[in-house]
Amino acid sequence: MYDVKSNKAEEFINDQEIKESINIGETNKSNEKLITSIIKKGSEGKGLSHREAALLLACDIEKLNKRIFSLAQEIKMRIYGKRIVLFAPLYISNYCVNGCVYCPYHKGNKETKRKKLTMDEIRLETAALQDIGHKRIALECGEDPVNNPIEYILESIRTIYSVKNKNGSIRRINVNIAATSQENYKKLKEANIGTYILFQETYNKKNYEKLHPTGPKHNYEYHTLAMDRAMEGGIDDVGLGALFGLSNYKYELTALLMHAEHLEAAKGVGPHTVSVPRIKPAVGIDREQFTEGISDEIFLKIIAVLRIALPYTGIIVSTRESKEARRKALEIGVSQISGGSKTTVGGYGEPEDEKSAQFTTTDRRKLDEVTQWLISLGYIPSFCTACYREGRTGDRFMKLAKSGNISNCCQPNALITLQEYLEDYAATETKISGETLIKQELANINDTNIRNKAKAFIKSVKHGERDFRF
Ligand code: SAM
Repeated sequence: MYDVKSNKAEEFINDQEIKESINIGETNKSNEKLITSIIKKGSEGKGLSHREAALLLACDIEKLNKRIFSLAQEIKMRIYGKRIVLFAPLYISNYCVNGCVYCPYHKGNKETKRKKLTMDEIRLETAALQDIGHKRIALECGEDPVNNPIEYILESIRTIYSVKNKNGSIRRINVNIAATSQENYKKLKEANIGTYILFQETYNKKNYEKLHPTGPKHNYEYHTLAMDRAMEGGIDDVGLGALFGLSNYKYELTALLMHAEHLEAAKGVGPHTVSVPRIKPAVGIDREQFTEGISDEIFLKIIAVLRIALPYTGIIVSTRESKEARRKALEIGVSQISGGSKTTVGGYGEPEDEKSAQFTTTDRRKLDEVTQWLISLGYIPSFCTACYREGRTGDRFMKLAKSGNISNCCQPNALITLQEYLEDYAATETKISGETLIKQELANINDTNIRNKAKAFIKSVKHGERDFRF
């Protein structure tokens, strides 16, 4: 039985409910009246249910699909403005005891070169990340209780936060490690992490068990309930995601929205972010076996529907995607992207050893090129990490976001952190275009007090001071 509040995975990610939702979508894919009414509801900016989203996803009326895309774009502008948050992944160890068949970290993969960073190596990696301008990272690690126990993760987090190279500092560490116990989530919270990120990979239980044949990750129930345990452990910003290409995309998107509804209903707050990774080639992985790959067109439709269904949830796209796919994704809903990423263990400090990589990246531009590109497209690259440092997490963040007041913080914070980037790391051309942008955008801040305070902070940044925030 489907039960949104249940504490059993198969009741809130209910196979029958997912299939019924997809069926309703398919039956009504040309139902202009019904789809129009859902688009109208979506335009109120209060989100959509998984059933409504399944209908938009299935829609095959061209003019309505155009409206879905333009509505997503409009919601994105209304809520996020032109700001795009930048981050980079930091891989600390690729030792792994799981058997995930799509992932090069899987235990039986002899082609992957195993590597675990020491604390000294983590210091070097962190300094290298700081030297290109990053302030926010996603810590990535394989699952291995012997090589990568929670103590190793916690020590790595402390080490990363402790490094201060020149004006650099990593101010927010989001953590993407395997499902763990409530007790360990409590420890991660105490270590001051930002968002806890865990991809479901696939919500389809049968496929899930086939794709994760061995190791602790095989347990669908334990994996699917991870966010519940994380929230019970005190982490109130969690990031969901599915690895598109493993199962049918309609199934994944419907179930992902059911997961979001479950967290809202059972824990009082939905996901802080959603990631939409697509499967990529990797060392020792035969990609031919994954037959559910999605086209760019469907990828973008998924993002548009997500933007309408979860207006206040950040959407993340990584360097798995090409420059062109990222450009389109940014237009219709994405609010965070990685830049200058290395998916190898220890790839920032030293030349990359592709044999330790997690997957092949497509957008290989440097962070400065990505920053310059964002400015040229009219966006404000943001290195802001203020929300969780100011206690604006979970429910508090959502309330502020829904009231529209969050932009009074985000907009000036984006400009202040961009100015820091321009002072410390930018190439001349980026600095020139960035300063013009900051001047224009400061003038667009309506509230006089906020505008004046932001101007004063930016002046202080130019004089060498750092880390101001609203
Ligand atoms: N060990 C953690 C876990 O079990 O969730 C972290 C996983 S890994 C460092 C981060 C993510 O990379 C995975 O959750 C998976 O979705 C993704 N991934 C694995 N193999 C991939 C591939 N071949 N192409 C693209 N993404 C992949």
